[in-house]
Amino acid sequence: MQKPELSIEFFPPQTSEGDDKLRATRGKLARLNPAFFSVTYGAGGSTRERTFATVKEIAADGFEAAPHLSCVGSTRASIREILGEYAAAGIKRIVALRGDLPSGVGDAGEFRYANELVEFIRSESGDRFRIEVAAYPEWHPQAKTPRDDLLAFKRKADAGADSAITQYFYNFDAYLHFVDEVRAMGVDLPIVPGIMPIASFSKLARFSDACGAEIPRWMRKKFEAFGDDAESIRAFGLDVVTELCERLLAAGAPGLHFYSMNQAGLTTAICERLKLV
Ligand code: FAD
Repeated sequence: MQKPELSIEFFPPQTSEGDDKLRATRGKLARLNPAFFSVTYGAGGSTRERTFATVKEIAADGFEAAPHLSCVGSTRASIREILGEYAAAGIKRIVALRGDLPSGVGDAGEFRYANELVEFIRSESGDRFRIEVAAYPEWHPQAKTPRDDLLAFKRKADAGADSAITQYFYNFDAYLHFVDEVRAMGVDLPIVPGIMPIASFSKLARFSDACGAEIPRWMRKKFEAFGDDAESIRAFGLDVVTELCERLLAAGAPGLHFYSMNQAGLTTAICERLKLV
């Protein structure tokens, strides 16, 4: 089996302590030799400066850095400016997203869906950037039907995306099914599973409800039974997520993208168990 490509996601810190912590986290995660570190972007541009600063720092340390860029609430002129800044900084990869407008913000801007952003990046920048897009094995919460979501995904591929990263999931079959469906539509992009290590069950449960990721009943019941026992939650989470990764790689997943939450411990522990270090 070819060595799977790893990538690791951060969010841009809000404070200088957060910056220091992320530097330390990155130092630890560097030994996993990831293909790139990606940095999230607040929809509507709320983290524009911080995302850029974090990405520049990662690149200056000699790692490939991939900024996320969401288009909702943005104008073509502002996206053009950001692309120019990234090009000037030598960035080679962008994670292109629609994003979600914060509640109460009415103006959707000049882009409606991520495929329009992918198309715009290609028309502005040719092949300068490798473009990653989002995929949803358990379907995006706003998709009218699974078929509509698959067609939306295909539009992103047709617009020029190179590769996809999935929303996190714990149902192995959902990933396989999604890949089969996408291939049946003639789309051959690599689809890298997004992996969410489990540090706290209550936070994960809240977050999963919002983004449409299902925590299977058998897992949920076990986590709930652990109550406040953080050690047991961590140990069980580590077992479950490592086994999921093992099965995904054995089934041919091209790599793993870790939602690190700016922490090194669980991502490193999973990769050590998978013998990827
Ligand atoms: P789209 O691909 O545009 O899809 C959004 C919804 O619209 C789907 O339901 C789709 O089926 C539907 N749709 C698409 N086209 C049409 C059409 N023509 N007509 C009708 N419906 C349509 N969010 C952030 O704010 N910042 C980040 O940094 C960030 N990083 C992420 C990284 C990954 C790997 C993933 C999986 C998600 C990330 N998100 C991020 C969350 C993402 O922005 C949200 O899930 C958002 O709601 C959808 O973005 P998208 O790019 O998938 O949108």
